[in-house]
Formats: sequence, structure tokens, C-alpha cells
Amino acid sequence: MKRFLLLLLSCGVLLHESALAQSLTLDKPTAKSLNKVKPKDIKAHVKYLADDRLLGRQPGTPGYQMAVDYVVDHYKKAGVEPAGENGTYLQLVRLRKSFIGKDAALSVLDAQGNEMKLTDGKEFSIYPHAEEQQVSINAPLVFAGYGISAPDLGYDDYAGIDVTGKIVVVLRGAPASFPSTVSAYSRDMMTVLQTAADKGAVGVVVATANPKGRVPNLQRGTYSVMDANGKVAVSRNYVSEKIKVLANIDAKTFHQLLQGAALDTAQVVPGLKKGTTASAPLGYTLRASYNSTYQDFESQNVIGKITGSDPQLKNEYVVHSAHLDHVGIGAPVNGDSIYNGAHDNASGVASVLEIAKIYSRLPEKPKRSVLFVMVTAEEMGLLGSAYFARYPTVPVQSIVADINTDMPTIIAPLLSVVGLGANHSTLENEVAAAAQHLGLAVEEDPEPEQMRFIRSDQYSFVTQGIPALHIKYGNKTKDGQNNLNKQVEAWRAVHYHKPQDGFENGTFDFDAGKKYVQLNFLISYQVANNPQRPTWKPGDFFGTRFVQ
Ligand SMILES: [Zn+2]
Repeated sequence: MKRFLLLLLSCGVLLHESALAQSLTLDKPTAKSLNKVKPKDIKAHVKYLADDRLLGRQPGTPGYQMAVDYVVDHYKKAGVEPAGENGTYLQLVRLRKSFIGKDAALSVLDAQGNEMKLTDGKEFSIYPHAEEQQVSINAPLVFAGYGISAPDLGYDDYAGIDVTGKIVVVLRGAPASFPSTVSAYSRDMMTVLQTAADKGAVGVVVATANPKGRVPNLQRGTYSVMDANGKVAVSRNYVSEKIKVLANIDAKTFHQLLQGAALDTAQVVPGLKKGTTASAPLGYTLRASYNSTYQDFESQNVIGKITGSDPQLKNEYVVHSAHLDHVGIGAPVNGDSIYNGAHDNASGVASVLEIAKIYSRLPEKPKRSVLFVMVTAEEMGLLGSAYFARYPTVPVQSIVADINTDMPTIIAPLLSVVGLGANHSTLENEVAAAAQHLGLAVEEDPEPEQMRFIRSDQYSFVTQGIPALHIKYGNKTKDGQNNLNKQVEAWRAVHYHKPQDGFENGTFDFDAGKKYVQLNFLISYQVANNPQRPTWKPGDFFGTRFVQ
């Protein structure tokens, strides 16, 4: 430990062993650079990126290209090196929007061959297939609860059933006993699809048990990233060519199918929540055929680097990520149809640009290198980050951590924070020390049911086995009411994913923005200088699932 502290001392960071997770002292140049962050610079970034001229930064549009050019320009001004493809700052992301044909057909046949044709958009809906334009399938149905296989958590919907060559019918959910981040991961469509494929299924039908539930309208299309050979590289609703159909059915149909196996919905549904599985063959066969059409277009991730100072460790990378895109033009609200995305996520991009400037001002760079990754298509399903984490421009095993910033919601003084995901790895220590250095309290996630851990780009790194976190505001308020989440909730109701999330007339606390920048810098700075790379906690749910 003495040698370790000396090592940290040698690179400008001093940690007091007793409160290792509590405090750090910076050398003068680092402290100076940290304090040079200007709220007005953060403001200027948000003002430009949220300008109406960028038309809400939709990938594949000139507005998004303007945002790319802005980031590249600021990387250059800050002396951030290119770390994209072919010596550029860019990584090409081939996006495909897939549409389901109007002639989709789905029916179920009982054991006697009686066919029940279902109505598209009412009793069923089918996801387009991102690779095969015409699909026909005919296979037996098996009920598989939530479609979760987690024997390590004492729950497995696939125990005792064989779904090889069959189509599984599942409900979206997870047992109440699952911890919030594990529950969020288990309910994620990609997890359900991957588990079904791993078990040999050829299709997944997602049912609702809620009589008022409506099947999702999929006419708007779904997004994927394609590779150079026209194959799916990453997607949020496609895992492999094994899964030929992904569909939804309504509660009436679900109830009828369950009756085919003498299962009563009224007992099965609460039982699952309590962790009691009820998987069984349903005695029905599903028949489906559908066509898909495509719209292909290109976008870019924008990647810069500050090279580390240690001959060895400079080949390892700490990533700061933020999504550069937003939802573009949409349904008008109070006459405004430009979704400017000032908080979501111009403020996150602004934070990463200022973090890069802190690093660029340091006379002595940290031991490890730092990557600044502005990703596209987050609003299309975390696609830009999923593509980067899956096909990074540096060796994936050299990426030691991801610190993501997405809509930090800087609408009030920042007095406490939540390190979403930090509690799964040793990153928890760096968060605590950085927060303590800035006089910030660290809190538990006040809204675990929001599944925020899997809803932004850090999740793409987690699924590649890389410890990751996302710093969100905590509840602490100056007046001691400590109900900031209530204020944020009220703000979100009016602004989140609305044209009202603009710069003009927006609510911003750019001093909180400065503190947010400093906090995220201090986390990565410690990681970049720590001889030990971050690790998942022993036996951690994500660490055990994703580390190769
Ligand atoms: Zn966002």
C-alpha cells in the first residue's frame, strides 16, 4: 500500500489511506486546470448545439453534421488528437431503419389444426427483420414466463422446458426480488432475445396480461447498425439470424394460449412476480409471414484522445462518452416542432468538451490515455455507443472504464450525486473520493424503477464487460428539503423529449455544470493514474455475465 500511495503521489494525486475512498489532494497544475473551467464556456457549447439551425441533431441530417463539425473543431482547438478511423476523428456508423410491411400475417393453430387469424395492430404486431426482407415461420409455442434464466439468482424460466426450434411466449418483467439494476438488465429486450436464442428458440412473442394493454405500434420503424457486408452489427431488437420472428400479442390472445396449457393468467402473473415459474408447452403452433423494407443512411461517432504519459499504461484507455444526437423534428408542442435537446444531451457533450480541455491544459498527462467519445443514435437505441463498444477504434480489452454523461439535468445547484452503476465495481471508490474533494454527498439511486442504468450509453460498455457509470444529480437542495428529484420530475414533465428542451427560455445552472465537469474529470483522472485498473466486485451480476 505504501508503494501504491507513492506511485499515486508521483502523478499528482495524494489519497489519504485511512479514508481511501474519501479524499484526494491534487498537485498544483492539476488543481489550477480544474479551477479554470468556466460556466460561460459550457453555456456557449449548449447554446450552439441546441440552436434551431441544428434542427435537433437527428443522425443522418445536416444538423447532426454541424454538431460533428463543432466537436471536431473544439477537439482540434484543445489539442485533442484524432482517435477515429484512418487517423480521423470519425467512426462511420451505418444506420438502417427497417419498416414492417402492411401485409404481415400471424395466426395460431390448436392441436386439431383450427386456425385463429389475429388482427395486425390490434391483436398482434411484428418487428421488421433487419436482414431478411421476407420471412415465413411455422413453429410450436412454449410459455416461458419472463424469459429469464438466472439460476445464480434462484430463478430460471427455462428450467424443465425444451424450446429448441420453438417460439417462446413471454411477459416483460422480473421477479420482485431482483435488485433494480439486475431487474432492469433482465427485462431488457436484448437480454430476453439473447437468452431465447441461446436456448435454441426460433422466435419470441411478447405478451401483455393487461386487458387494457395495446400491442406496440411498430409502423414507425426500428433502427439497427449494419456492418460493411449488410449484416446487423448491433441492434436493440435483433440478436441473431436464429430468431426469425419477434412479435407482440394482446392480453385476450395471451389468456387463450395459456388456457391451452391449463394455465390461469390470474395465478401465473402474480406467481411470476413472487419468483414462481410456470413454463409449459402451450399446445398451439404459430404461423407468421411478413416483409420488411429498409432506409439506410450514415452517421458518425466522434472520437478524440489525450495520450497518457506512462510507457505501458498509455496503451490503456479511460473513456468519457456522451451522445451527440437528439430526436430532430417532431410533433409540434405549442407551435414548436424542433426538439433542440439542450439538456439532452447538448449539456453532456459540453461537459465532455470541457473535461477534454482540463486534460489538455495539464503539463503532465495522466498515466493512461483518455478517450472522448461522442456517440450518435443514442435516441435510436444506444446504437452509436453499442457499435463503438462492440467495434472500438482501440482494442476493447484496453478500455478500462467508461464514464458517461447524459442529460446531467443542471437545473439547480449540484449538492449531491448518484453514481449509477458505480456500486458494481471499484469505480465506487473514485466516485467517493472525487465527490468528497468537491464537497458533494453521494446518494443511492432515488428512482431505481426508472431503470436509468440501462437507459443510456454506459450500458453499451457494461455489456462488453467494461466497468461503467453515469453520474446523475442527487436529491440534496440548498433549502434542506432535499427533494430535487421532485423538481426534476416537474421539469422533465414539461421539457424531457419536448421542443421545450431548448436553450432560449431554458432553466440552466451553469455553475452546477462546472461542478459536474470537475467531478467527472476527477473520477477519470484517478482511474487514469491508478496502477490497478478498475474491476467488477467479486461475484457481481454484470461482472460475471459480461467479462469474457
Ligand atoms: Zn439523452
